[in-house]
Amino acid sequence: MCREQTPRSCQHSPACPSASAADHDAARVVSRHPEQGWSLLCNGVVVFEDTGELLPDRQTVAPHRPLYRLVDAA
Ligand SMILES: [Zn+2]
Repeated sequence: MCREQTPRSCQHSPACPSASAADHDAARVVSRHPEQGWSLLCNGVVVFEDTGELLPDRQTVAPHRPLYRLVDAA
């Protein structure tokens, strides 16, 4: 059901990419949990600090970015 895929509507302008969009990780961070190593994006995607992702439909995405981003964030 479409309703379950969009638990919240995006309030940003321009709107964030949806969880199924190719650039879904470009959505704004709405909840950051650095002590637990993950952030929740506006579109419901959870991004882990190793760049792995958990999509709202429970699909997982393997880490896919160079590690320099970790160094940058530390
Ligand atoms: Zn948004």
